Amino acid sequence: MAAFKCPHCHEETLSLKDKYRLGWWATINCQQCDGRVTAFPWTLMVISMLYLWNLMWWVGLVHFKHSYHYLGYLLVCWILLDLLNIYFMPLCRLKKKIPG
Ligand SMILES: [Zn+2]
Repeated sequence: MAAFKCPHCHEETLSLKDKYRLGWWATINCQQCDGRVTAFPWTLMVISMLYLWNLMWWVGLVHFKHSYHYLGYLLVCWILLDLLNIYFMPLCRLKKKIPG
């Protein structure tokens, strides 16, 4: 189930799982052209900060208000961030590793 375009060969070779992993600082090699792919670093940094902020905000609320229904907010925000991560994260090309 490939759904996302590789920035090297422009074929839809990246699966949903690959795309999600790219949003968590992974690098992937395209199955077709073997090009290394990563998420755009500035967007990746912003998304990571939002994940962290979401987590800190939740920890803070539970700590100060002692109410676990904020866990629901955490989950909703987390899912929204995941969707943002998967569908709006731009990808970029990495150069091939130089042997040796
Ligand atoms: Zn490719």
